[in-house]
Amino acid sequence: MRKMILYAVGLTLFAMLLSVTAGAFAARTDADTSPAPSEQPAASPSVTPPLGLLDSATTLRFLDRDGTIRDITMAEYLVGVVAAECPAGFETNALSAQAVAARTYTLRQMRIEPRTEHPDADVCGDFTHCQAFVSESDMRANWGARYDEYLAKIRAAVAATDGVYLTYASQPILAVFHSSSNGWTEDAAAVWGGAFPYLVSVPTPDADEDIPNFTTTVSVTLDDFKAAILSRHADADLTGASETWVGASTFDASGRVASVMIGGVAMSGLELRELFELRSTSLTVEVGDDVTITAAGYGHGVGMSQYGANALAKHGFTWREILETYYTGAGFSDEVQSA
Ligand SMILES: [Zn+2]
Repeated sequence: MRKMILYAVGLTLFAMLLSVTAGAFAARTDADTSPAPSEQPAASPSVTPPLGLLDSATTLRFLDRDGTIRDITMAEYLVGVVAAECPAGFETNALSAQAVAARTYTLRQMRIEPRTEHPDADVCGDFTHCQAFVSESDMRANWGARYDEYLAKIRAAVAATDGVYLTYASQPILAVFHSSSNGWTEDAAAVWGGAFPYLVSVPTPDADEDIPNFTTTVSVTLDDFKAAILSRHADADLTGASETWVGASTFDASGRVASVMIGGVAMSGLELRELFELRSTSLTVEVGDDVTITAAGYGHGVGMSQYGANALAKHGFTWREILETYYTGAGFSDEVQSA
C-alpha cells in the first residue's frame, strides 16, 4: 500500500512537471483505437455470471477467419488475445493484467452485451467488435526462434490469473484498455458520454517507457484541410488567411483536447481525431505551408494503458495492483467484496 501511495506522490509531481513541459504539446493527452474494447459502452448490465469460472472449463464459440465456428477454451482464447494486444517482451505482470482485462471484457460480452455481428459465436478475432486475436501459427510466424519461449511466457501469465475477472457492484466491468496515454488516462464520459465510476482519469507513467511512435504527425495541404473541415462544418469561415484559421483550444481534465476553434467553429478533439485519423486526442494543430497535427499516445485513453501497465510492472506492481490503478474501485471476482 505504501508503495502505491509513494508512487502516486511521484506521479503527481511527474504530472505537474508534465503539465509545464507539455506546453509545447499544448496538451498531455492520448487516446486509442487499437483494441476491440474501443467499442461504445452499452447499457447497464443485468446478469451476473457465475463466480469461480476456470479458464480451462470455460468454452467459447470462436468465429475463425475462414468463417467456421469452433469451440476453444478461455485459456486458449486469452493467450491469443494477449499475444495480439501486447509485445511478448512485456513484463509478466503487465501480460497478466492484460489477461484479466481481456477475460473480463470477454465475460461481459458473453453474458451481458452479446455481439450482434455474429449471433452464433461468442467471440471472433476482429477488434472492431471483439478483441484482437492471433492464432498459434501466426505467433510462430511473428516470433520465429522465440516462439516457444514467448508462448510459454504468455501461457504462464494468463494461467497466473486463472478465472479471475474485475467486478464492480458484483458485475464484470467494462474493461476497456488502450495502447498508451500521455500522462493521464481518459474519463469514459469524455469519449462515450456515459460515465463509469471505474473508468475515470488517473495518472499513468507511460513516459517511463520507450514507446514506438509515441508521437505521430499527420500533415495535410491547406486545401485538403479546408475541404475536410467544411465537409463537417459548412459554416466554418476559412476564407481568410490560413494563419487565422485555427484558434484557441480547450482541454479536458486529462489534458486531451476538448475543442479547437477552427474557422470560428468549435470542433471537438474526437471529431478531429476521426476526421484526420489521428492516434489520439492529445493533439496540437499548427498551420504553416501545410497543416500539421501532432498526437501523443495511441488510443481512446480509457481504462488500462498497456504501456503504462508495463511501466508499473517494472516499478514492482503486481498484476492486481496494476489493475487497481487503472480501474478505480473495481474488485476481483476471487476476493470477498465489502458492501
Ligand atoms: Zn466479433
